Amino acid sequence: MFANIIDGRSIALQVQQDLLPRIAALKARGHPPGLAFVRVGEDLASKVYVGRKEKACADLGIYSKTHVMAEKTTEAELLQVLHRLNGDVALHGILVQSPLPSHIRSERVYSAVNPDKDVDGFHPVNMGKLVLGDTTGFIACTPAGIRELLIRTDIKIQGTNVVVLGRGNIVGKPLAILLCQKQKHANATVTLCHSGTRDLKAHCLRADILVAAMGVPEFVRADMVKPGATVVDVGVNRVSDPSAKTGSRLVGDVAFDAVQKIAGRITPNPGGVGPMTIAMLMQNTVLAAERASGRET
Ligand code: NAP
Repeated sequence: MFANIIDGRSIALQVQQDLLPRIAALKARGHPPGLAFVRVGEDLASKVYVGRKEKACADLGIYSKTHVMAEKTTEAELLQVLHRLNGDVALHGILVQSPLPSHIRSERVYSAVNPDKDVDGFHPVNMGKLVLGDTTGFIACTPAGIRELLIRTDIKIQGTNVVVLGRGNIVGKPLAILLCQKQKHANATVTLCHSGTRDLKAHCLRADILVAAMGVPEFVRADMVKPGATVVDVGVNRVSDPSAKTGSRLVGDVAFDAVQKIAGRITPNPGGVGPMTIAMLMQNTVLAAERASGRET
């Protein structure tokens, strides 16, 4: 028996299709949604990610504008650009692509984005609202996308044991908080594992839903998965592969071929969580525009 594949690409497409009438309504009222991207430096992966997000905007008819800044940009210069974007009424969302050069403090940068335009959900106000269960904030796109994948594939979250591997601020920690909320499509018992966790495998084997967000290539093996469990692979890792044209290839945090034989449902990688992250960014941008125009759906 092989696990059912959770098709992130087609679910992301559905999410984006659902946004079309909302975008049309905003335009009809004279409030076309707008999203600013800020990219600092020439990191290749960042270029690819911003390019995909720009394309999603273009496909949906969301206005977007990209600011490319040199690697040597100072923190003060970047903050100045964010200040200007915060005041631009045509832009409802601002996304600063990570990673930032090491001389720039990402916490300072995320805190400088107006929380009402923080469609990435990294501002302390939005993180705080998530912790408090206040739904008026923005939820970080990857955790929001993972929850949406589960909802749209009818995977029950309520009452299940969820194990999240990795306590990063962008994925693991906000996801753990999101899924343990006393709310619809949540209310799970969540275990958050990290490098200090003892007997990590024993935790994994108790998971009804196992989410790997560590950045460790193929860390989750078949003997770590409860038969029939749902496995969500968030990791994006470049590993060397002499047989590949480029000498390397991307793998997830899950040993897909082996785990697929044990799991009930599994996300492919690529084609699982990645497209959902972009779809949720589009959704947050539309929501930000609706809030700015004084009407939420
Ligand atoms: P991060 O901030 O570096 O966090 C990694 C976490 O994994 C840390 O909590 C770390 O533990 C834990 N960890 C690392 N090695 C471990 C080990 N051997 N055993 C147990 N725990 C371990 O990373 P992130 O930003 O959350 O990203 C995680 C992965 O998701 C990366 O591959 C990233 O590229 C990918 N990602 C994908 C998307 C997408 O849309 N598909 C979006 C964002 C990120 P400590 O805290 O103890 O150090």
